[in-house]
Amino acid sequence: MRFGTKAIHAGVEPDPTTGAIMTPIYQTSTYVQAAPGDHKGYEYSRTHNPTRTALQNALAALENGTHGLCFATGMASIDAICKLFKPGDEIVSTNDLYGGTYRLFTKIFEGFGLKFRFVDMGDPANVAAAMTPNTKLIWLETPTNPLLKVIDIAAMAALAKKHGCLLGVDNTFASPYLQNPLDMGADIIMHSVTKYLGGHSDVVMGALVVKDAALAERLAFIQNSSGATPGPQDCFLVLRGLKTLHLRMQRHCENGAEVAEWLVKHPKVERVYWPGLPTHPNHAIAKAQMRGFGGMISFTLKGDRMEDAMKVLSSTELFCLAESLGGVESLLGHPASMTHASIPREERLKNGLADTLIRLSVGLEDVEDLIADLEQALA
Ligand SMILES: *Cc1c(COP(=O)(O)O)cnc(C)c1O
Repeated sequence: MRFGTKAIHAGVEPDPTTGAIMTPIYQTSTYVQAAPGDHKGYEYSRTHNPTRTALQNALAALENGTHGLCFATGMASIDAICKLFKPGDEIVSTNDLYGGTYRLFTKIFEGFGLKFRFVDMGDPANVAAAMTPNTKLIWLETPTNPLLKVIDIAAMAALAKKHGCLLGVDNTFASPYLQNPLDMGADIIMHSVTKYLGGHSDVVMGALVVKDAALAERLAFIQNSSGATPGPQDCFLVLRGLKTLHLRMQRHCENGAEVAEWLVKHPKVERVYWPGLPTHPNHAIAKAQMRGFGGMISFTLKGDRMEDAMKVLSSTELFCLAESLGGVESLLGHPASMTHASIPREERLKNGLADTLIRLSVGLEDVEDLIADLEQALA
């Protein structure tokens, strides 16, 4: 099956009791047993729920994995990965990381004895140098937030294999429509389902997908033991969102390309970060491992005055100023004062996060209207 057909059909069967074509919202905590232990595969909804099962199977199919596991949020799914390890184990992670993941690693799991090393994964030699016999996981996201750097997944998979550790990829920014890291040698895919997979800014959820039954079993044990599972109503909303994932991503890519190319030519814009631009430093890797370049774009303003950025951010009408991304509507954000405000300014500038850096999540509106909105805001 090709991607669009899977997005609509994978994991979903007509409901066995009524034939309902849409998976019902099984709003139940428990399931009646005919005799002790004699049940239909469902005992208690923290462990299993049919609406969640359908979604987990759909996500596994879209990522070319064998097992999907859903969690209450994206962060809960990364939390579950960390619980695979024990004190003294080490994780080598990209230094250009979603802020919430950095916080979970350093403020929670360092306290439980895990060790994290943050390196620039633009050069695989940096990763090789950070590996020790205790390294159990290489963790990355690509494209990164907010500078849209692209990391070579196959190169990281080769390193993980050589050292006998796992490779985990946060695939939130790309979505399975644009890249499937399991096919490039990754062991665990993580999604903030909140973003492109849900796609309608009405759910927070996370997911993991793996292709190894033993690893799936360990993660399912953690999922059930820690209990950060999503409810059936949220699973239903995401099942509905998935059915248009391929159409939405196509349009995100088209609108992203038009907006990026328009920004490049704008006299007030200093620099545009979008992996589809031939001038992007990782364009070659992006072209090799992604099927398209998505709708996430960052740019800076000439002169680098914070007040100019503030003016733009408060002048758009269609682009709403908000955190998050990947929904049907266009959003914009200011990393320096929003998502990355907790990082000291010196540190931010060292990592390339200029005061005027503005991040766009280009939505599905008519692109002429989006460009007209940016035009008047920049004016
Ligand atoms: C949003 C996000 C997360 C966290 O997911 P939540 O659903 O908000 O918990 C993790 N990684 C990336 C890249 C994200 O954008």
